[in-house]
Amino acid sequence: MISAVRDALNVVSMNKTLDPVDEAGWGDLRALGHRMLDEMFSGMEEVRERPVWQPMPDTVRGALAGEPVPYQGQGAETVYAEFVENVLPYPTGNTHPRYFGWVKGTGTPLGMLADMLAAGMNPHMAGFDQAPKLVELQVLKWLGQLMGFPAATSGLLTSGGTMANLTGLNVGRFALAGYDVRAEGLAGHPQMRIYCSNETHSWVWKTAELLGLGRAGVRAIGVDAAYRMDVSALRSAIVEDRAAGLHPICVIGTAGTVNTGATDDLATLADLCAEQKLWFHVDGAFGALAYLSDEMKPMLRGMERADSLAFDLHKWGYLPFEVGCVLVRDPEMHRAAFATAASYLTEMDRGPAAGGMTFAERGVELSRGFKALKVWMSLKAHGVEALREVIEQNIAQAHYLGGLIDEARELELMAPVTMNVVCLRYRITGADERQLNALNQEIVMRVQESGVAVPSSTLLEGRFAIRVAIVNQRSRKEDFDMLVQAVLEAGRAVVRETA
Ligand SMILES: *Cc1c(COP(=O)(O)O)cnc(C)c1O
Repeated sequence: MISAVRDALNVVSMNKTLDPVDEAGWGDLRALGHRMLDEMFSGMEEVRERPVWQPMPDTVRGALAGEPVPYQGQGAETVYAEFVENVLPYPTGNTHPRYFGWVKGTGTPLGMLADMLAAGMNPHMAGFDQAPKLVELQVLKWLGQLMGFPAATSGLLTSGGTMANLTGLNVGRFALAGYDVRAEGLAGHPQMRIYCSNETHSWVWKTAELLGLGRAGVRAIGVDAAYRMDVSALRSAIVEDRAAGLHPICVIGTAGTVNTGATDDLATLADLCAEQKLWFHVDGAFGALAYLSDEMKPMLRGMERADSLAFDLHKWGYLPFEVGCVLVRDPEMHRAAFATAASYLTEMDRGPAAGGMTFAERGVELSRGFKALKVWMSLKAHGVEALREVIEQNIAQAHYLGGLIDEARELELMAPVTMNVVCLRYRITGADERQLNALNQEIVMRVQESGVAVPSSTLLEGRFAIRVAIVNQRSRKEDFDMLVQAVLEAGRAVVRETA
């Protein structure tokens, strides 16, 4: 018998716990928890007064990188104090009203509270007969309805867009393989092909690798001047691949590309998929949310015909990380693509295992958290109307920013503004593309380091663009004036220094 067990049996108590052990202990933790909440609320209320982002001093890097394993506890007070000193002041910046980098939602105070409640309740979301399961099912039903899908649509909340897209594609591969790909794998069968535009987000490569199709399983199609997939090139590619003995299975359309916010002609892609009997998947990571706006809906027409649709709620849904969603039109196919038979997960007639492992049978993960709560609380507390209004405000802000760029002689727009993404650059007469690339790269870093605003960047046909993606529920009109001012000042300074 190991000594710890022998010792344990010799003492009367086996009451070691990680909870506070008495009333005084609970009282202390409660007081600390209230302080944490107060301080997080204050931070959110005053976020506008802080720099968007700031570099970490060496002391912070040292403190957070070199600490030995803490075998002895330091107490919650001490650790919280260290969090306040070394962690909290150095965030990504995305909670700030002038953060426009990559595509990162702001989060909401209510979302923070909901995540706390979810962690406190700590349900296991593989399925089980429990109220949290009903909350996720309800949320999925609402989201399906809001995206124009039929009532029977299946779905799953995921950690994000990548997982949502992967999940949808896996159902498509299973449905279109033409044989039992789960049983047989891929060996000995013709190479399956999926099609997307070359503006598709990089999740598609990871997914093709994970699904065993390899990068050779993806055929990226060119785009037109508005960065939308060239549908006639797609059609030729499918015909050509079929003739070469390959096996086309899926077309991916994008609603809101990551580079420029462009949306493919989803209705035409839906027609083509119906005609060619291919799985139609739409990546609407942020763009799908624009479907809530009556003004934007026509541009996204066809999205509601997808076999699977992926989108995030931690981007344009403004919720805290992490939460994404995949909708799958055919509920039987969805389940058949993932369900497993394991004796320790067997459904029972009664008790907590009644109803089975509903969500584990819709995706990769078994243990899952209660992400649904923040979606449920936010939709109900704010209402979909409020969400729609803030989304429309972001689109208006993108057009406002586009107007400011048009007016400024030193700036130019690099792509049409169709949604919430604006690509621009600083220009000087007589400079070649290489010089403009270097100049604008320097401008982005200076603006970011100034703490005034955080845009990010991308390359559009080899040309460096300052990229502004607006999924921020805290931004006001003047924040875009300040962004433009910061870009102009940085541009002028770099030009002066290099003259
Ligand atoms: C962000 C994004 C993704 C990936 O979503 P994650 O939530 O970051 O995993 C996929 N596609 C597009 C268009 C995106 O903008």
